[in-house]
Amino acid sequence: MTMPHVPALHSLEDPDEFIARHIGPSEADEALMLSVVGAASRAALIAEIVPPGIARRAPMRLPPAVGEAQALAELQQLAARNQQLKSFIGQGYYGTHTPGVILRNVLENPAWYTAYTPYQAEISQGRMEALINFQTMVCDLTALPIANASLLDEATAAAEAMTLALRMSQSASRRFVVSAGTHPQTIEVIRTRAQPLGIEVLVPDSPTAWQQALEGDYFAALAQYPATDGRIAYLGADAALIHARQAAFIVATDLLALTLLTPPGEWGADIVVGSSQRLGMPMGAGGPHAAFMACRDAYKRALPGRIVGVSRDAQGQPAYRLALQTREQHIRREKATSNICTAQVLPAVIASMYAVYHGPEGLTRIALRVARYCAILAEGLTQLGHSVAEHGSFDTLLVHTGSATETLARRAVGLGANLRRYSSEALGIALDETTTRADIALLWQIFAAPGQALPDVAALEAGSTLRIPAALRRTSTFLTHPVFHRHHAETAMLRYIRALSDKDLALDRTMIPLGSCTMKLNATSEMIPITWPAFAQIHPFAPGDQLAGYRQLDTELRAWLCEATGYAGISLQPNAGSQGEYAGLLAIHAYHAANGQSQRDICLIPSSAHGTNPASAQMAGLEVVVTACDAQGNVDLADLADKCAQYSERLSCVMITYPSTHGVFEARVEELCALVHRHGGRVYVDGANMNALVGIAAPGAFGGDVSHLNLHKTFCIPHGGGGPGVGPVCVVEDLVPFLPGHASTGLHSGVGAVSAAPLGNAAVLPISWMYMRMMGAEGLKRASETAILSANYISCRLQAHYPTLYASPGAAGQRVGHECILDLRGFKATSGVTAEDVAKRLIDYGLHAPTLSFPVPNTLMVEPTESEPLEEIERFIAAMIAIRAEIRAIESGEVSRTDNVLKNAPHTAAALLSADWPHEHSREQAAFPQPALRHAKYWPPVARIDNVHGDRNLHCSCIPLDSYLS
Ligand SMILES: *Cc1c(COP(=O)(O)O)cnc(C)c1O
Repeated sequence: MTMPHVPALHSLEDPDEFIARHIGPSEADEALMLSVVGAASRAALIAEIVPPGIARRAPMRLPPAVGEAQALAELQQLAARNQQLKSFIGQGYYGTHTPGVILRNVLENPAWYTAYTPYQAEISQGRMEALINFQTMVCDLTALPIANASLLDEATAAAEAMTLALRMSQSASRRFVVSAGTHPQTIEVIRTRAQPLGIEVLVPDSPTAWQQALEGDYFAALAQYPATDGRIAYLGADAALIHARQAAFIVATDLLALTLLTPPGEWGADIVVGSSQRLGMPMGAGGPHAAFMACRDAYKRALPGRIVGVSRDAQGQPAYRLALQTREQHIRREKATSNICTAQVLPAVIASMYAVYHGPEGLTRIALRVARYCAILAEGLTQLGHSVAEHGSFDTLLVHTGSATETLARRAVGLGANLRRYSSEALGIALDETTTRADIALLWQIFAAPGQALPDVAALEAGSTLRIPAALRRTSTFLTHPVFHRHHAETAMLRYIRALSDKDLALDRTMIPLGSCTMKLNATSEMIPITWPAFAQIHPFAPGDQLAGYRQLDTELRAWLCEATGYAGISLQPNAGSQGEYAGLLAIHAYHAANGQSQRDICLIPSSAHGTNPASAQMAGLEVVVTACDAQGNVDLADLADKCAQYSERLSCVMITYPSTHGVFEARVEELCALVHRHGGRVYVDGANMNALVGIAAPGAFGGDVSHLNLHKTFCIPHGGGGPGVGPVCVVEDLVPFLPGHASTGLHSGVGAVSAAPLGNAAVLPISWMYMRMMGAEGLKRASETAILSANYISCRLQAHYPTLYASPGAAGQRVGHECILDLRGFKATSGVTAEDVAKRLIDYGLHAPTLSFPVPNTLMVEPTESEPLEEIERFIAAMIAIRAEIRAIESGEVSRTDNVLKNAPHTAAALLSADWPHEHSREQAAFPQPALRHAKYWPPVARIDNVHGDRNLHCSCIPLDSYLS
């Protein structure tokens, strides 16, 4: 018997163990890959690809990598610096019980959190069903006919509603009236968004002033129901007044309250926004949570964000897909209805599952309990001699505490509770699903004078009446669709969640080689901390000293990201890449304005840019001028120079992506930056492709002035089926004063707040912290190099089958960056096959398609990332080669151009088993083009989906069950 090979023990602690697990190819694989691409080493390959002028000379100064156990232990210590007090702050963030079956099987389940945005609809039916449940829930509770599939947070949703109203407005006015009863963070974000668009925000400071304002000139008004101080008032008369002025009425609301209150859609609201946080998503210091927006039917084509709609597939069966995409940035660019790309899909799925699990009766029971406790609390406080504001309320009370305010707030903290410091004269108390009798007793104890007897909960419980005005009690039904009634037993719920996730392809089943999206490993050790109570159960507006752990997380992560990017300052507040772009452009504009150059309003953007770039520029009040790209995929420097000269006085900035969205490391990037600087402009480097740069080159060092990062691409936050994300904005020294601020932290900046919470999607930051802590400088650099090696390997291996667009000559073959664009444009003429056909055919092979038709129509952009093992890369290559043979059979005339395995893809089991099989190719060829598929087969639940039909016959809520019977 031979002994197994025991490797030598280099040191007692082995940080390299995680690095080797994060990086897919082994050292032996790497040697093989290098020999195929014809490079002597990773370093030699990188030297061929990265322009020498920009290559880093010194390694990043990061703490030395540690292993998984050690990193978790360190993070636990950091988390312990947060203090978890019982929160009664409210203000848009509430305690909630995430049902265990949803916590474990959705939030902590890679089948859900590693999925991509459902652009490939056929492999995304499960998450789209969950999202249509979300939309249905929002429509039902608000009583409006159309809702989108999530927005980033309540404050940005309110700002999006403002611009939606402006787009739809007939009025010449640019005034927007906001009720002072709106959450302060919502008003703050609205002010930020309004400023560059020349919208005047009016916040009347009294009910009389509000009435007067509504009789004036404005294009829309916003009120909150229930208001931030808890008040519930009938707003139907306001709606009539607003409509008489041809203006739109926007209402910010609370979904749980709407189970008991007359919904805004029934008394005249045109647009309703809010957060679904309290439906099962922990507070997490401010995010991620799914915001929502619902509107009147007439507004649907102007709605921001994604909408899931029902269409039909090639077999005539109902199927879901993203509807009305022509509104969105990836198609409409600077004319899009918003810049949103990554949204909040996973939190929206959680909220929808919470509604499915509890159903209308369960939600009503939860809401009634909250409202009862609120009534009992109020009566008790009154008995104790306190003055509770005498307005209707659901969950929130305002107590006039006068000069005792500070003392009471401090006493509360001493007893383990946070109250809201509403003003220097009043405290707010908000209750939620987690409130217990003991909490009510605790609250009374806080407010009782020494020795004063506490009220008797049981006695009050028997006698209390709800504080909801009878005239505003909801009478209409909601959540009547069977899906909200069938899954209340945990067994049924477990199976429903599983059945939906089984329909989808996520990273737990296949590589997702989406170019520009960086679908890499989201390691389990990185994910574990996000549900630790010390991160999850923290209110974003708790007193600052209770958030010491989060502050340390913020400080360390920003320092590490500065080191990785070469920038001087970073804000983690933007909660998606698009929001980072927006914040960065605001910073540039504020900088110019501070220098007396506010006329600089031109943003030059190359034609290959991602759609969020022009859409963000528009929101920042800039005018977009598109510049050309040359035949090699580079920014056309001559054209750029011309446009810089033409607009010299008005040049605000140039937005480039590096390496470019064509996957090219443009050699003359430093020259480009210098050119823009000579004209007084600033350079925005879109950092979405940072996975090719970390440890290799730093945009802040080679001429960039501002970048955003996508922590949900390069830094391992999972994509969640389309969010959450984090889009930090990074700037050079002289722009640091213009990073976003947030009034709640006392940090005021020229550009204001861009997210509802100071740290944006704070609760997912531990993921990126863990990644950087475990990889260290060497590991991160190796990751970037391996990502580039893997892309080059795929490009070389497929060269004879699909030419790579924009490859450059290298020492021993063609070279690309961390992704490669496979050119399929020629097949249209030779066989009628399009890139879309190949994308759908890959489903039959059990693979997720690469990025389809971006940035070049009819191509596939492949980004394998460093995390894909060579074996999986080979599976992809083999499938692509086999598909090329299928195309060749069409080209040669052997197979019909219209009836073939590509045009009919993907093949469902139902189609294959049908007695009616009218095709020339066999069922085996369709389903099992490779032998291995007989042992491991993904069966798509629907056939090719008809997008046009869905947009013509728009249907965006749950479909009646009998539509499946046809
Ligand atoms: C993903 C991406 C963005 C947008 O980021 P989101 O987080 O989805 O808003 C912007 N630019 C490029 C090049 C991207 O790939």
